[in-house]
Amino acid sequence: MTAKITAIEIISLELPLKEPFVIAYHAWDSMPAILLRVETDLGIEGWGEAVPDPNVTSETLSSCQAMLVHDVAPRLLGLDATCLAAVHQAMEFIRSAPAAKAAVDIACFDILGKAKQKPLWQLLGDHTPGQLELPAVLPLVAPAEQAEKAAYWLRQGYRQIKVKLGGDYREDMERVRAVRREVGSGLEIRVDANQGWTLAQAMEMVPILKEAGVKVLEQPVPWWDVGAMAAINKEIPVMADESVLNLYDLQQVVGASAASWLNIKLMKCGGLLPGLGLAQQAREAGMPVLLGSMLESAVGSLAGAHFAAGVEGVVANEMVGPRLYARDTGEFPCIGNHIQLAKTPGLGFSPHWHHIDKLALFRTLIK
Ligand SMILES: [Mg+2]
Repeated sequence: MTAKITAIEIISLELPLKEPFVIAYHAWDSMPAILLRVETDLGIEGWGEAVPDPNVTSETLSSCQAMLVHDVAPRLLGLDATCLAAVHQAMEFIRSAPAAKAAVDIACFDILGKAKQKPLWQLLGDHTPGQLELPAVLPLVAPAEQAEKAAYWLRQGYRQIKVKLGGDYREDMERVRAVRREVGSGLEIRVDANQGWTLAQAMEMVPILKEAGVKVLEQPVPWWDVGAMAAINKEIPVMADESVLNLYDLQQVVGASAASWLNIKLMKCGGLLPGLGLAQQAREAGMPVLLGSMLESAVGSLAGAHFAAGVEGVVANEMVGPRLYARDTGEFPCIGNHIQLAKTPGLGFSPHWHHIDKLALFRTLIK
């Protein structure tokens, strides 16, 4: 069965956050994103999403939009959307641009799932979907405020806490201590410095993190400093995030023993198909995988949830975008801190057109 691509709609929008999201390298009041709607001659349509983060993927909303409209979409017309390898091959003339490619990849996987009448998690791993539990993610705010937020999420039944660090490192020490004091000993705490420390600062933080029972330290130093990551990883398990976009980055990190965990984001690696390659390499290296996010809306978060559910070795996910948005692009199947994927074919996404129409900054149909 083939499903020839007949038209591609590109919709750029600004997703409104309930409150600003602050991390070490940026603060967002709203999140720029691009939705992709791909039509085929079977009458099946697929949805994809790009959330470019210039700090990580070197793409801005405008570069991503221009590339999709002028360079990518015209080359995809007439291709079989269910042949993911061919779809990626058609985009290979661009070396990177992973968020733009992820939007196309997710939309085509959605079409493949609908054509085969299977939910994506089943196509991605045929693994019995585990419980998809969400963590509370605490933005980089003052220590007392972070502890207060931790207490709030604890009351809501959350059992995993991710603390954003990477600000003033002395204040970071207080953040970790304050959060641990607030949540008691039973909860899992992960921290993410988002490249905010030097090697010396990270080494000073290590005993405090250990004392607070931190399970894993994500991206303590800048992405390029694999040597420093290796030194820190000897002291406490490090998770590579900004350091690893693709297979070559992962080979370097594994070769240097620079991380014990891997954060895969569909927006960093170019979608589900490249994500499968990364997950396989991580399994071979004995690294547990966390499926992270760039705060995608319901479309991208559903793709991430299917990946986390279906792919072996993915032990945690952070599909928290939908929880943070005041208005979303569609329904996200989350009850409390658990994602519950339906057996609907493909992504299982149904658009909230009334929100999309209002939030759209730009839209065009290429055919
Ligand atoms: Mg991170």
